Amino acid sequence: MLIIDGSFGEGGGQILRTSLGLSLVTGTAFRIEKIRGGRKSPGILRQHLTAINAAAKIGQAEVVGASLNSQQLTFIPKKVLAGDYSFAIGTAGSATLVLQTILPALLLADGPTNLILEGGTHNPAAPPFDFLEKTFLKQINRMGVNVTLELVRPGFYPAGGGQFKVNIKPVKKLLGFELTSRGEIISRRARALVASLPTEIADRELSFIAQRMSWDKSCLHKEIINNSRGPGNVVFIELESENLTEIFTAFGERGVRAEAVADEAVKEARHYLAAGVPVGEYLADQLLIPFALAGSGVFTTFGLSLHTTTNIEIIKKFLKVNINTKQLGKLSTTIEIA
Ligand code: AMP
Repeated sequence: MLIIDGSFGEGGGQILRTSLGLSLVTGTAFRIEKIRGGRKSPGILRQHLTAINAAAKIGQAEVVGASLNSQQLTFIPKKVLAGDYSFAIGTAGSATLVLQTILPALLLADGPTNLILEGGTHNPAAPPFDFLEKTFLKQINRMGVNVTLELVRPGFYPAGGGQFKVNIKPVKKLLGFELTSRGEIISRRARALVASLPTEIADRELSFIAQRMSWDKSCLHKEIINNSRGPGNVVFIELESENLTEIFTAFGERGVRAEAVADEAVKEARHYLAAGVPVGEYLADQLLIPFALAGSGVFTTFGLSLHTTTNIEIIKKFLKVNINTKQLGKLSTTIEIA
């Protein structure tokens, strides 16, 4: 049995999610100790528990230690079963991270899957639904699979209650590809979403972005959400290039001015534009598992984050794959999988 140290490197939930995902794909049993050992509140939180239970269900796994706050888990998978599933977090914990956990196995399952996921769809420190759809899955669908998403209703912290549907048409073998240049930028958008909050927040966020990015009004989109369980505010800067769309996200918070929220997204977008690389920090760590499963491919991103280097080490424990990183400049690294 593979033993994983959950406090290694970045020491967060990604080590658990990557281990669960690759355990399902490879049929490798593992035990993880010191789960989220690098975090202030270590152990399994509700969203991790939902991910573990979801992985156990689709992989018919035998599981020991799957309880809230547990810092140790043993996971022994059997065959992955495609089909129709519904998983609910029950809090505002990220439902998109539950998908991140089980998606690799379902991309390679022996039949299509329909998922209904409930919880947070727009959470800090997790891929927002919009990023999954426009950034991540657009690239995944280049690998031969067909994954589609539908947002039923958004879920924001702290009320949660969001829901989205996923349809996955798998393949026998994922195909790697090359993503080393961005191409020309073909569209620029700033979107500000507000739910049960003054819409003036969105106006202020958008006018701040317009001013800082020197964008005209046609790039600005205010979206008023009427069907979420609780209040929320999120702002996206979306840069669509010939080869990919990147999205930079910031979340409204009580006590933080709308301009300061928008500025977070502006800073990320400017950093990306200045670096000239195609793949942003978050997409880089999310592409690693699918590329590693394909066994081939290359992409260019910023300097490596601790998140990414940790993920690479965990992937290498489950898969026999070479992941070579080459620093090209201060702000640019190529990651090649062979
Ligand atoms: P962890 O911090 O280990 O729980 O992992 C967080 C996951 O969420 C990683 O896969 C990140 O790439 C992803 N993530 C966090 N923030 C964003 C964001 N703003 N946009 C897209 N993905 C994100």
